Amino acid sequence: MSNPLADASAATKRGEVTVDRVNCDFHGTRVLFETDLVVEAGEFFTLLGPSGSGKTTLLRIIAGLIDIDEGTVAIDGVDVTRLPTQQRDIGFVFQNYALFPHLTVAQNIAFGLKIRKVRKEALRKRVDEMLELVELGPLADRFPAQLSGGQQQRVALGRALAQRPRVLLLDEPLGALDRRLRQDLGAEIRRIQQESNTTAVYVTHDQEEAYILSDRMGVMEAGYIRQVGTPAEVYGSPRDSFVANFLGETN
Ligand code: ADP
Repeated sequence: MSNPLADASAATKRGEVTVDRVNCDFHGTRVLFETDLVVEAGEFFTLLGPSGSGKTTLLRIIAGLIDIDEGTVAIDGVDVTRLPTQQRDIGFVFQNYALFPHLTVAQNIAFGLKIRKVRKEALRKRVDEMLELVELGPLADRFPAQLSGGQQQRVALGRALAQRPRVLLLDEPLGALDRRLRQDLGAEIRRIQQESNTTAVYVTHDQEEAYILSDRMGVMEAGYIRQVGTPAEVYGSPRDSFVANFLGETN
């Protein structure tokens, strides 16, 4: 197996995600219909839409957490449809952080690297880089319970990025935080994504977040991606009445 730390070249754009004609059914009910999507390497792409529109399902399909019978998912042109999550070269950040409570900040960030048997020296260097990236160096020896919600989410980000994944998948990562913190941390996620040169697919129902953070976005409704474009394109000329009405609602 190649060393994940040796692979990464910060200069090369990588992490293109291609979803092709994906259908998804739960207990006989279709929740995604012939879904096509291309997320370009290095871009910050947001899936925006109301609750139940299929955003999380699509993200989990890209992650390999939900199996599909129809359609394909590829990362940088490699078909990963049948690959388990661990082999997809992705990082995942959830709303509820899911940190290990009995491990320190540094140990949480190191966890995935240890499992992959990264050597001690390389591991320490990588953890230090991550602590710097998410600005948690002074808190490296604290436990999750001793951190604020925003700090916990930064640990989760550091942990997800420690293995230099091609693609970072974020499912409402700011959902549990208050408005002010959401804005600050949103900007920070964007900075970290750019500095680490990672493709991001970001799920939210918050239009303002989508508008501020995204290079491009896809607006979802009832299992369909209704419109894809830059925030200026989508907000400037909504393609249909659903998109217009949804974007016209205030949060
Ligand atoms: P969103 O992320 O946009 O809120 P989801 O992808 O979570 O939407 O859900 C899309 C649809 O699929 C909803 O109707 C939801 O009830 C259904 N669904 C999601 N996960 C499951 C599951 N594990 N079992 C059955 N139905 C599910």
